[in-house]
Amino acid sequence: MTDVNQGTLYVVATPIGNLEDLSPRAARVLSEVAVIAAEDTRHTVRLLRHLGLALPMLSLHEHNEAARVAQLDERLVGGDDIALVSDAGTPLISDPGFVLVRELRARGRRIVPVPGACALVAALSGAGLPTDRFLFQGFLPAKGGARRLRLEGLAAREETLVFYESPHRIRDTLADIACVLGDRRLVLARELTKAFETFLDGSAECLLARMHDDPDQARGEFVIMIAGAESRDAPEAGEAEADALLGALLAEDVGVKQAAGVAARLLGGPKKVWYGRAQALKDAR
Ligand code: SAM
Repeated sequence: MTDVNQGTLYVVATPIGNLEDLSPRAARVLSEVAVIAAEDTRHTVRLLRHLGLALPMLSLHEHNEAARVAQLDERLVGGDDIALVSDAGTPLISDPGFVLVRELRARGRRIVPVPGACALVAALSGAGLPTDRFLFQGFLPAKGGARRLRLEGLAAREETLVFYESPHRIRDTLADIACVLGDRRLVLARELTKAFETFLDGSAECLLARMHDDPDQARGEFVIMIAGAESRDAPEAGEAEADALLGALLAEDVGVKQAAGVAARLLGGPKKVWYGRAQALKDAR
């Protein structure tokens, strides 16, 4: 049970470009806390100035996060409320904060998210790729070999794949996507919520050509979204071919299970899918 006299850690999302995306609740929380733990205090001071706030801040980034835990915990126990912010978007999402939240939660402290902008969610909401299932992978490895290996490991995933990428690596990453995933459909969201927000749609090779023609398209911040692999639930063979094979086997009194096994071997795809199909054909006879 949380001690009512203890303070709260608010995990506050901040804009990813457009300052109007800061919610009224986030602005209020930032104005009420005793201290703000910020990824880069120089960056956050600009947001605070915009809000007309001057508050004590301390830095919390990947190099000092673990060391900050005890200090911030002490302040919470003493009754101070604290806001955790990153440079842009939602803390902990490819940003610092995970270690702090994990450790404070383990100590039973009150942690309250104040939701708002997040580049991956904004990108997905405007891309027109399936969003019922997606796989967010943060940043791909910086080195080409490791990057291609990671992409190879993801090639069979059926969910929409989502990555963050910087302008320094966008072309190399697109080239690797073209190399590993071929002409898979891709949507590139650039500079979301900012003046030059763009969504580009096409294969990685086609997007590289666009950047070659218009180098401005390679500037700014990116979310890369890639269509998932074709579903392997659907047998690859044409339906008529599949039904003909299963029908012929069933006509020879081959059992449903055996027919499904033969179809899976000859036509590919999971046996359970063929089983369902063979059973349906048998029922219809
Ligand atoms: N915590 C942030 C969030 O909630 O989205 C992400 C921080 S991560 C260090 C920064 C990366 O997010 C950028 O390199 C880019 O891939 C993506 N990103 C952030 N702002 C963006 C924007 N306005 N447009 C496109 N991508 C953005």
